[in-house]
Amino acid sequence: MKIAVFSTKPYDERFLTAANAKLESPHALHFLEARLNADAAPLAAGHKAVCAFVNDQLNRPTLEALAAGGIKLIALRCAGFNQVDLHAARELGFTILRVPAYSPYSVAEHTVGLILALNRRLHRAYNRVREGNFALDGLLGFDLHGSTVGIVGTGKIGAVTAGIMQGFGCKVLAFDVHQNPECVQRGMAYVPLDELFKQSDIISLHCPLTPQTQHLINARSLAMMKKGVMVINTSRGGLLDTHAVIHALKSGKIGYLGLDVYEQEADLFFEDLSNTIIQDDVFQRLQTFPNVLITGHQAFFTTQALENIARTTLENISCYERGEASPNAVPLDKLR
Ligand code: NAD
Repeated sequence: MKIAVFSTKPYDERFLTAANAKLESPHALHFLEARLNADAAPLAAGHKAVCAFVNDQLNRPTLEALAAGGIKLIALRCAGFNQVDLHAARELGFTILRVPAYSPYSVAEHTVGLILALNRRLHRAYNRVREGNFALDGLLGFDLHGSTVGIVGTGKIGAVTAGIMQGFGCKVLAFDVHQNPECVQRGMAYVPLDELFKQSDIISLHCPLTPQTQHLINARSLAMMKKGVMVINTSRGGLLDTHAVIHALKSGKIGYLGLDVYEQEADLFFEDLSNTIIQDDVFQRLQTFPNVLITGHQAFFTTQALENIARTTLENISCYERGEASPNAVPLDKLR
C-alpha cells in the first residue's frame, strides 16, 4: 500500500524501512518531515493511507482534507489517540489503527529515571561537578525505600512502574477505573483517588488523556497532597493544569516535578529550537524551578520500542489491506 508517513525523523525512517523490508509484501513508504494538519493534508494526495504520530493534528479540518483526497486509513504509530477527532473520523468513514503496546518497560523505566534524578538531584549534581563545585548543600534526597508511591492508571505502563517501585521497597497505592488483577496479586492496594492523593509521597500518572482525566492534577487535587510531594507525568500533558502546578511549585506544595509531556508540547517537542526564542512563557516558567526536570516526550524512545512500533504499524496496515478486522483498530462504532 502507498503510505504518506508524516512527522518523520531520521530514526522513524530507519526503523520503518527495516521493518518494511522484512514483510512478504512491503509497502511503499513516502517519508514526509511535515507535521500532519489541514495545511499539510494535501501532501497525502495519491496515497492510500497516512501514518501519523502523537502531535499530528487529526482534527476535523485535517480529516475532511484527507477524506477529500481519498484516504480511508490512518495508521497511528503510537498508543494514544487523543490527537484524533474520533467523532469526525467515524462520520467520514475512517479506520484508525494504533500500536496499543510496544514496550511498557521503555516508559516505565524512564518514569523511574525521573524519580531517581529528581530525588537525588542528579540534574543539578551533574552540572555542579562539571563546574568543579563539589558542595552537597541543596542535594539532599530521601530513601525511596519505605516511601509511598501512588500510581494513577494501572494498565501496562502503570503496572510495570509499580512493580519497579515495589522492588525499591516502596508501598504502592493504586487507582484505576478497572483494577488490574496482577497488581492486586502483587500486594498493591487500590484506594479511592482522593486517598491516593492524600497518602502518597510520589504520584505518577499512567492513565490516558480523556475528558474524565483532563486536568486531573488541579488546584483541588493539589490541595489534598502532602507538602513536598513528587509529581511525575509521563502520560499526556493535559492531565495537569499547568497553571495550578506552577502555583503549587511556588508555594512548596510540590517538592519535585518530573515531566516527559506538556500540554502545549506540539509547538515545542521533537524539534531543535535551541537557536530560537521560545515564546511559551508557561513552559519557560516551569524551567526556572530547580526542582523541575523536563524531558521532551522521550520516554518511549528505546531501540526495542521503535522496532515494535515499526513492526506493528506496518502489520496493522497489511492486515487492513487483506480486509481483516484488526484488534488494534480504535473502536469508532462504540463511540457515544
Ligand atoms: P493502558 O491502556 O494499558 O493503561 C491505561 C490505564 O488507565 C488502564 O488501566 C485504564 O483503565 C486506566 N484509566 C482509564 N481511565 C482512567 C481514569 N479516569 N482514572 C484512572 N485510570 C484510568 O495504557 P498504557 O500503555 O499503560 O499507557 C498509559 C499512557 O501512557 C497512555 O495513555 C499514553 O498517554 C502514555 N504514553 C506515554 C508515552 C511517552 O513516551 N511518554 C509512551 C506511551 C504511552
